Amino acid sequence: MNTMRRFIGFYKPYKTVFFLDLICATIISIIDLAYPQILRTSTNTLFTGDSGYILKMLIPIGIGLFIMYVVQGLCRYYVSYQGHMMGANMERDMRQQLFDHYEKLSFSYYDKNNSGQMMSKLVSDLFDIAEFAHHGPENLFISIIKIVGSFVFLFLINWMLAIPLLVLVVVMFIFSLSQNKRMQETFMENRRKIGDVNVSLQDTLAGIRVVQSFANEDMERRKFKRSNHGFLRSKNDNYRCMGTFMGTNTFFQGMMYFVTFVFGGVLIAKGYMDAVDLAMYALYIGIFISPIQILVELTEMMQKGMSGFKRFLEVMDTEPDIQDAPDAQPLEDVRGDVSYENVSFRYEGEEESVLQNISFNIPAGRSVALVGPSGGGKTTICSLLPRFYDVTGGKITIDGKDIRTLQLKSLRNHIGIVQQDVYMFYGTIKDNIAYGRPNASMDEIIAAAKRANIHDFISQLPEGYDTFVGERGTRLSGGQKQRISIARVFLKNPPILILDEATSALDNESERHIQKSLEELAKDRTTITIAHRLSTVRNADEIIVIDEEGIRERGTHKDLLEKNGLYAYYYNMQFEGLE
Ligand code: ADP
Ligand code: MG
Repeated sequence: MNTMRRFIGFYKPYKTVFFLDLICATIISIIDLAYPQILRTSTNTLFTGDSGYILKMLIPIGIGLFIMYVVQGLCRYYVSYQGHMMGANMERDMRQQLFDHYEKLSFSYYDKNNSGQMMSKLVSDLFDIAEFAHHGPENLFISIIKIVGSFVFLFLINWMLAIPLLVLVVVMFIFSLSQNKRMQETFMENRRKIGDVNVSLQDTLAGIRVVQSFANEDMERRKFKRSNHGFLRSKNDNYRCMGTFMGTNTFFQGMMYFVTFVFGGVLIAKGYMDAVDLAMYALYIGIFISPIQILVELTEMMQKGMSGFKRFLEVMDTEPDIQDAPDAQPLEDVRGDVSYENVSFRYEGEEESVLQNISFNIPAGRSVALVGPSGGGKTTICSLLPRFYDVTGGKITIDGKDIRTLQLKSLRNHIGIVQQDVYMFYGTIKDNIAYGRPNASMDEIIAAAKRANIHDFISQLPEGYDTFVGERGTRLSGGQKQRISIARVFLKNPPILILDEATSALDNESERHIQKSLEELAKDRTTITIAHRLSTVRNADEIIVIDEEGIRERGTHKDLLEKNGLYAYYYNMQFEGLE
């Protein structure tokens, strides 16, 4: 089986530990099995009644037992410590591989999958896998040795008593398995129900302001009560199953002692065995009862572990849509001519194309502005240039080279993007600016911040460039974040620039400030600008008006106003009453 082979592959770096782990497990089981034998020898000694002899024999037996248990303790230590560490190491390896792979997957993958599910793969699935990876082989080993070993001894001691016990064990095992399956189902149901409770809780908390402003607390409470009660009901099923399982198992165990005592008694009466044998029987039964439970639990652990591993493989086997071609070239000595030639594009899984036969050309250092209603495809046009998605028709070239023949990393290193939403990583302001070029010096960072008009603000913060920002850090305003993102791009210093509604979320005042930094940034770079507010695109070398139908108008600001078409209409609308 392919899945199994790949699973075993993860053991490879830990071959030695794995091997020692199994050896220790074997020693632990053998020592457990040896105890009744030693007891028998000692009892025989004790029964001789010669006190001198007894005392003499106690010394070697005592020393032997002592050493045995020291060894067993050490082996148990190794198995619990190194065995678990092996599992943890494998978990770390898989998690790293998964993370590396997630980083490579394309935008289209992230369009379709939610981050909650991805997180759960990184955390809980991998934990299940690691548990199985470590406990699986080891428990299987211990259980089999103990079960087979103790049965061999039972047969050797008295085969007549062993046969009814064997039958009992088989029945018990089959019964446990079937019960376990029922129990698993109720566990799954449990998990679904607690999921419902979580969804309901999260929904209410996320929307608590709406709930309270509509005074709908009672309605929400009723909804929550329903899911909360559903969880209780599923717990009831769950515990009933568990009770049946535990109860029957205990009963079966008792039955083994019962058969041993009654049937063994008959055998003793008939002279087929003696009382010491019976005592040994009781001890061996004790030894093999526990592994039966362990085996049953193991089937569950294996199901969880393997289904987790399958989900892991599913992600690992998803090829990134966008990768370097085998003979991809780096982008060198870039002038920055950008050209879209008959570009068409359709999002994966969508019926209709967003773009059809779009062509335009931006000579190095010049600018194009895309304007038009939202949903027209402006952002989509921009995402094609860094190859977040690949065109479905036509081609895009930089300095005449089709971008699909370029190395992805090199291509993206030559393009800077400023967009409406700015993501701040958890870290210092300095780290966030340096994200544009991680090896930049402090002087370069400050220079970039100055050009982005954010240096003065940062300087007056108590901790300056070392102020923590991001999810758990200081809150920055939209304008401040935007300026940090502009500083990032200054530092990156790319020849090609995309400004996608960089100022749309800002008030007029901040917009005016940032507009200056953006103009400075765009100087001598090939630029595509998308803007809501047409005042910001007036100076573009070419303005392209685009909507769902495609390109509607194009030309300079002056041309388009003279033409008195769509652009002129939008433009006059925005400035009515303003000027
Ligand atoms: P604009 O930037 O002009 O507002 P977009 O390029 O964002 O327009 O969107 C153009 C069209 O593509 C819209 O109809 C939008 O719903 C669709 N679209 C955008 N992103 C995706 C996506 N990731 N998957 C599917 N459809 C998308
Ligand atoms: Mg957009």
